[in-house]
Amino acid sequence: MNRISFRFYEELNNYLPDEKRKVWFEYAFPGSISMEEALHQLKIPVDEVDLILVNQQSRGFEYLLQEGDRVSVYPVFESFDISGVSKVREKPLRNPKFICDVHLGRLCKYLRMLGWDTLYSNRYTPDKIIAVSGQEGRIILSRNQLLTRHKKVTRSYWVQSSDPLEQIEDLIENLDLSNETQPLTRCLNCNHRIVPVTKQEILHRLQPRTKQYFEEFFICPVCDQIYWKGTHFEHMSDFINQIIRKHS
Ligand SMILES: [Zn+2]
Repeated sequence: MNRISFRFYEELNNYLPDEKRKVWFEYAFPGSISMEEALHQLKIPVDEVDLILVNQQSRGFEYLLQEGDRVSVYPVFESFDISGVSKVREKPLRNPKFICDVHLGRLCKYLRMLGWDTLYSNRYTPDKIIAVSGQEGRIILSRNQLLTRHKKVTRSYWVQSSDPLEQIEDLIENLDLSNETQPLTRCLNCNHRIVPVTKQEILHRLQPRTKQYFEEFFICPVCDQIYWKGTHFEHMSDFINQIIRKHS
């Protein structure tokens, strides 16, 4: 038997049994085996693998494993700096963007609150979601594994919880999003970036109390929604900070 060590990163751990998640573990095999075969045996979908380092060197799926190798496997979407190493996938994902399936409307709002570019519509069909994901490099978020593991899909994340708060926490933890959030920069209705607007310009649209207590305003150039740092903002900030504190 030959023996090597594997370590899987981020959401690839979801495919492993508990005792193998986020730790180095030993993998034994007789004779000769390629990286791709070993990943198949471990039930890791190769479509979701972006980078493989063997003893710190970047390797492809065809690499034949050697006794004593230390193998790190990273998913399509990774937060650490991998510039300078070649990846198994041609175009790496930077600045992850998402598309939610029709059941994840609340999760979509939370992602937009955190500043992540996220599409959602209750009219999206699975085919439409798969097409947009491919064209725009968006990670599909869904609770349906028929969709996330569909053969045409290369970027997806299987959302396990049915609770939107648990869903967003799970994403922040597993996709390592906590360092890159830009809270309150995106319209919650339409996903467009919001821009500052002077109080004077929108004065006629404000309630008397808002007029009295707030000076700083933002507007969505697409759907015209106005945002300010009122109670709603404070609730959102508290919520976001709580999640970030827990996972940073
Ligand atoms: Zn908008």
